[in-house]
Amino acid sequence: MEKETDVIIVGTGAAGLFCALQLPESKKITIITKDDAQNSDSFLAQGGICVLRSEKDFHEYFEDTMKAGHYRNNKDSVEVMIRSSGEVINLLLAYGVEFERRNGELVYTREGGHSRPRILFHEDITGKEITGKLLEQVRKRKNISIYEHTEMIDLLCKDNICYGIVAIDDQGKVLPLQAKHTVLACGGIGGLYRHSTNFAHLTGDGIAVALRHGIHLQDVNFVQIHPTTLYSQKPGRRFLISESVRGEGAILYNAKMERFVDELLPRDVVTAAIEKQMKADGKPYVWLSMERIAKEDILKHFPNIYQRCLEEGYDVTKECIPVVPGQHYFMGGIQSDLEGRTSMKCLYAVGETSCNGVHGANRLASNSLLESLVFAGRAARNIALEEKNEKSTDGSARSLTELFLSENYTDQKKLRQDNKELVRQEIERMKKEYEQQDNHDVKCG
Ligand SMILES: Cc1cc2nc3c(=O)[nH]c(=O)nc-3n(C[C@H](O)[C@H](O)[C@H](O)COP(=O)(O)OP(=O)(O)OC[C@H]3O[C@@H](n4cnc5c(N)ncnc54)[C@H](O)[C@@H]3O)c2cc1C
Repeated sequence: MEKETDVIIVGTGAAGLFCALQLPESKKITIITKDDAQNSDSFLAQGGICVLRSEKDFHEYFEDTMKAGHYRNNKDSVEVMIRSSGEVINLLLAYGVEFERRNGELVYTREGGHSRPRILFHEDITGKEITGKLLEQVRKRKNISIYEHTEMIDLLCKDNICYGIVAIDDQGKVLPLQAKHTVLACGGIGGLYRHSTNFAHLTGDGIAVALRHGIHLQDVNFVQIHPTTLYSQKPGRRFLISESVRGEGAILYNAKMERFVDELLPRDVVTAAIEKQMKADGKPYVWLSMERIAKEDILKHFPNIYQRCLEEGYDVTKECIPVVPGQHYFMGGIQSDLEGRTSMKCLYAVGETSCNGVHGANRLASNSLLESLVFAGRAARNIALEEKNEKSTDGSARSLTELFLSENYTDQKKLRQDNKELVRQEIERMKKEYEQQDNHDVKCG
């Protein structure tokens, strides 16, 4: 592996891959990932990706996003995301991504919190379609190298300037990797939870290194719980039952087979209703029924969900399935501006690991793939613009490399445990602080 590169990107999800593709081909780019390249949450996305269909929908789309986010969103970020959506979808189409069409025209679906259909999809494997095509494109580029099973464990940084990262390669060797620009695209925090829809290796490593180096974070108390994951007694990742199933007509039942909530309310509201109902029923799940969706529509739009449920012993065309809320998405993260810049020079954060306030306190369904792509593209363009001011990685970076190699990275198991604990503690600390602030605001009227 090259020890020096122009841009190092941590993560092969939609954000990391799109960023690499939007950088000039004159740049030498290294992408690393902890696991196989296709093992990212981006590959798991089922429901779809939002797009602004016409100017007429701008205000409603904006309002839906703000309302789902409890109006704690950054309005500029929301506007940029929505206004950039058409351009991003056109780029995806140019990369060969296929979305559902009828008579040649794109088909739009709806999910919880959306006042009208504006979500493009590919069966119920939209994330695999998008991210798989991005990965294919990246593999064709001569200027981009991908290293799998290579884990970032620290940043090479001094005086609030980032000079690259420290990684453990696939042979277990600790390496300094110098870069003029570093992009953290290392996803969410599901691996910190017992019940999560995320890959278990996504443990908020970007957040941990940010905490260690005093890089600003934002909204880390905002963790989204998805209302409907397939209940199972088996250990491991929980299988998501996409919101678009409810968007297409699926309904929730309590133990007495009675409806108890409007299934199309935002995620946090439906989650709270399910949790309350589970307590009242004394059961670890509630029921989800697809009886209102025609069998051929289930098989066409949700073949993956149909198959997975069948493997668990449920035929969704004939019977209800047990569902339970599970950790799903991290709205908070490393504070970033509209160009993905963090509080540390030459360090960018994009995708789920970053936070520019676009989702506020709660993400609207199908906004995250879009957000990942929009701001990863902007970060890439910003890096290209900064080309002229690039610092040399020589001098300070070389001496830093020596400094960092003298650091003790030998007990890697402990380092990973400590990092997880650091992130958990920060989330809890911020949750308490937020609750106290909320109580104070209520008291002060
Ligand atoms: C089941 C499921 C369904 C979803 N459905 C939708 C949907 O329909 N629509 C939508 O918009 N969003 C959906 N989402 C959310 C969306 O998929 C993610 O938020 C988004 O794809 C995040 O992309 P990302 O590139 O930031 O992170 P990821 O795709 O998670 O990629 C993170 C990458 O970072 C790597 N990494 C992490 N730590 C390190 C480290 N220390 N060193 C090296 N590499 C590291 C990982 O290996 C991985 O390659 C869904 C999520 C899940 C889990």
